[in-house]
Amino acid sequence: MGKVTGFMEYERLEEGYEPVPQRVKNWKEFVITLGEDQAKVQGARCMDCGTPFCNSGCPVNNIIPDFNDLVYHGDWKNAIEVLHSTNNFPEFTGRVCPAPCEAACTLNVNDDPVGIKSIEHAIIDRAWNEGWVAPQPAVAKTGRKVAVIGSGPAGLAAAQQLARAGHAVTIFEKNSRIGGLLRYGIPDFKMEKTHIDRRIAQMQAEGVVFRTGVLVGAMPKGTKITNDAKETISPEALKAEFDAVLLTGGSETSRDLPVPGRELDGVHFAMEFLPQQNKVVAGDKLKGQIMATGKHVIVIGGGDTGSDCVGTSNRHGAASVTQFELMPQPPEVEDKPLTWPYWPTKLRTSSSHEEGCEREFAIATKEFIAGTGKDKGRVVGLKTVHVELQNGKLVEVPGTEKEYKADLVLLAMGFVAPVGSVLEAFGIEKDARGNAKATTEERGGYKTNVDKVFVAGDMRRGQSLVVWAIREGRQAARAVDEHLMGSSALPR
Ligand SMILES: Cc1cc2nc3c(=O)[nH]c(=O)nc-3n(C[C@H](O)[C@H](O)[C@H](O)COP(=O)(O)OP(=O)(O)OC[C@H]3O[C@@H](n4cnc5c(N)ncnc54)[C@H](O)[C@@H]3O)c2cc1C
Ligand code: SF4
Repeated sequence: MGKVTGFMEYERLEEGYEPVPQRVKNWKEFVITLGEDQAKVQGARCMDCGTPFCNSGCPVNNIIPDFNDLVYHGDWKNAIEVLHSTNNFPEFTGRVCPAPCEAACTLNVNDDPVGIKSIEHAIIDRAWNEGWVAPQPAVAKTGRKVAVIGSGPAGLAAAQQLARAGHAVTIFEKNSRIGGLLRYGIPDFKMEKTHIDRRIAQMQAEGVVFRTGVLVGAMPKGTKITNDAKETISPEALKAEFDAVLLTGGSETSRDLPVPGRELDGVHFAMEFLPQQNKVVAGDKLKGQIMATGKHVIVIGGGDTGSDCVGTSNRHGAASVTQFELMPQPPEVEDKPLTWPYWPTKLRTSSSHEEGCEREFAIATKEFIAGTGKDKGRVVGLKTVHVELQNGKLVEVPGTEKEYKADLVLLAMGFVAPVGSVLEAFGIEKDARGNAKATTEERGGYKTNVDKVFVAGDMRRGQSLVVWAIREGRQAARAVDEHLMGSSALPR
């Protein structure tokens, strides 16, 4: 249980960041992992409160009090065993998870929560460095074949679980590299891609086959969604070859802003801008990369994706970066008795914001302004208006109209749904939001209306988090295993 009086003796310790002027010069990670002694002190702060709300606050139900205790006692090897028992990829979540576990930590009721994410990060980084993360090939093969469509965290987690259960798993990915949004959405400065590469090597050693550049089904014509496919496979061909198919294609349709001037050059979806930069960091030579260098950049959308556009624009050397959020500014500090153990709404300042960014709240974009002369056809600014909440609805405040200068506008307002044509090619029913319809319980869980076709991750639940994708991938793997074998020993 850590140290009995640890929570009274020690303060929460945040992970360090490299200084801004240094880190914006490159694309590398800049978070400084806790040292062994620092992680031990954090572990000592765990109260062993008896009802670990952190454990249910964590979507993969990491057994947090146990690994806190093991780290406090210096038993790092068992700590990684405990961590891996619920989470296939703690190096992903230890870097990019927003840590709802910490909001739920009992110490967070009237103190600072245990730095759970930083402990997770330290455990898995040490485990890789020590060579404790080894392939775990199945002892016996089942002779069953499973196709996983999409190689984001949901597909990777599912494939690893299914291969360890003895099935022959092939992952089909339309893009040229594996990883989904871990690879092409999340910038390298938040998570370097070597973390994905070594998991691919581990999974290959466990028998997983990766087929990149292969689209299953169809993409809409003229789409801006990243698609490097050189080959297409039909759902029928796939179903004929495999005993089960798991769709983990994500939620790739970006929310648009159809106001006058949307067609102008210089107005792009975040998911046109970010994947290009990740490809360049990976060594690809791109023609006509969208660059923020020397430009006045406006990012529309206040979430993770918007924040990643801010960090990327600053690394390009933008002249200015401004981020718009439609909703009013939330409070700086949450009302803990009201919100604990749930995820509170409060002002969140990301490491990218700290690197330089003006933030505007309660602001709506009415029009993109077209340039004239040499700027004809290009965006040169935005017309905005302030909005306020009235009876639960956002209404415009008269007299607050304003113009902003902008040479590059990045739309980061979230994702509305998976690509409909892929679901339609399979004949899969959609829910009211356009996601693939399948509950976590009905028909054994994660099963669509189409025989032997399952779905998990953002494609089923809508845009979400890496940790939720891992959970869904793990649970869907169990459902597929049960479907194939009649029962399953895989964890839920
Ligand atoms: C810019 C950005 C930043 C984010 N930052 C964070 C963060 O910091 N923390 C966090 O927790 N979450 C973050 N998220 C959300 C998180 O990345 C997603 O919730 C998560 O990746 C979803 O996983 P997934 O496996 O369901 O789908 P995805 O990661 O979207 O992967 C789906 C994969 O399926 C492939 N695919 C789709 N259709 C087909 C087809 N027909 N044939 C073959 N392949 C196909 C796609 O090419 C893609 O590779 C971020 C999202 C974005 C866009
Ligand atoms: S995966 Fe996320 S929620 Fe779970 S313990 Fe790690 S940081 Fe917390």
